[in-house]
Amino acid sequence: MSNTIQAYRGSVLHFNDDPAIAGDSYHWHEDGLLVVDGERVLAAGDYDALAATLPADAKLHDLRGKLILPGFIDTHIHYPQSDMIASPAPGLLPWLETYTFPTERKFQDPEHAGDVARFFLDELARSGTTTAMVYCTVHPESVDAFFTESSARNLRMIAGKVMMDRNAPDFLCDTAESGARDSEALIRRWHKQGRQLYALTPRFAPTSTEAQLELTGDLARAYPDTYIQSHVAENTDEIAWVKTLYPQARSYLDVYDRYGLLRERAMYGHCIYLDDADRARMADTGAAAALCPTSNLFLGSGLFDFPAADAARMRLSLATDVGGGTSFSMLRTMNEIYKVARMGGTYLPALRMFYLATLGGARSLCLEDSIGSFKPGNEADFVVLDPQCTPLLARRTDRCESLEELLFALALLGDDRAVAATYSAGRLLASSSGTAAH
Ligand SMILES: [Zn+2]
Repeated sequence: MSNTIQAYRGSVLHFNDDPAIAGDSYHWHEDGLLVVDGERVLAAGDYDALAATLPADAKLHDLRGKLILPGFIDTHIHYPQSDMIASPAPGLLPWLETYTFPTERKFQDPEHAGDVARFFLDELARSGTTTAMVYCTVHPESVDAFFTESSARNLRMIAGKVMMDRNAPDFLCDTAESGARDSEALIRRWHKQGRQLYALTPRFAPTSTEAQLELTGDLARAYPDTYIQSHVAENTDEIAWVKTLYPQARSYLDVYDRYGLLRERAMYGHCIYLDDADRARMADTGAAAALCPTSNLFLGSGLFDFPAADAARMRLSLATDVGGGTSFSMLRTMNEIYKVARMGGTYLPALRMFYLATLGGARSLCLEDSIGSFKPGNEADFVVLDPQCTPLLARRTDRCESLEELLFALALLGDDRAVAATYSAGRLLASSSGTAAH
């Protein structure tokens, strides 16, 4: 990329705080300009104010009529499950046995893993997602394949090798020792290599022995700036199972706490059946929740409790959980989290949904100084949304009288068709005229 300044004129929106907490939480420039210097944001603001500051050789891209937002951040997704999204099964445990484990077995083959990683990253780009926190499989090859593709595209991605040493088919099990050894080698190979970040990834408490969680806790302490990801309190059968496996733990979340796996940069998927003591522990330790509504509804797991989470001041983010989730689109995911909140008696404004999908995700990952907003110096990851992309959206958004109405229509009616273009570190990744060459 040359050093030419790139300037994008359109309606610019980004957040500086959670709209549920702060009155002054976002920046909205209806005729706005996003100025990008190489891989980074130089400025974002009103077109009238910024246009005069552009150097003569700056390249101006006219995106008027469209919205420019920070790229979406999906904090919980399984790339190996791309090929089995929308597989029919009555609930989580039969779904794992019938579809997930046979699908993940194939990732011992690096060529297969590379092929799926390429498809997966293309699909994220088409959906406007620029950062994801990703589960690979138990095979270290699956992680190498993922990061090889992700670093070739210069994406800000977080991923890790699944660890599981019990209650799974032999062909998908590591051991406590091999899981820790392989994870440590992957940390050394990939963590902070360019924009890549490593996540220690015990799949969930039932598929790890105490020895495995203990060694994972050791690694989390030895490498404090790595990430941790797992699942917690997703459905009632699973919780009963955890109780029999870890009778000494106070709760499902407490299993992770006992092994030092609650801290900043730890992301827990679902968090549906936490109690108040768990929620306080999440907030105190800085661990974050990945809300996965399309998955929770698809598998019949349950409804996330917003009032209780907000009362505890938990860090919240939004996630697709493909392939338990039914869409790569964070807009579709907003549509479903809106309804989940309604079922719990809560009203979720669109501004907050867009916050959760951008800055909320970045804050949950302690990455707000790199991504999630257009703060000067941040990495230039952004998405361009087209409110005119379908006849229905065009008709509805033509009648919108406020930003909230416009965002709400995009969240409830939008999907990957609304993504006109996706940029990562200043480079075009995908556009509605086709995925960019890479
Ligand atoms: Zn998951």
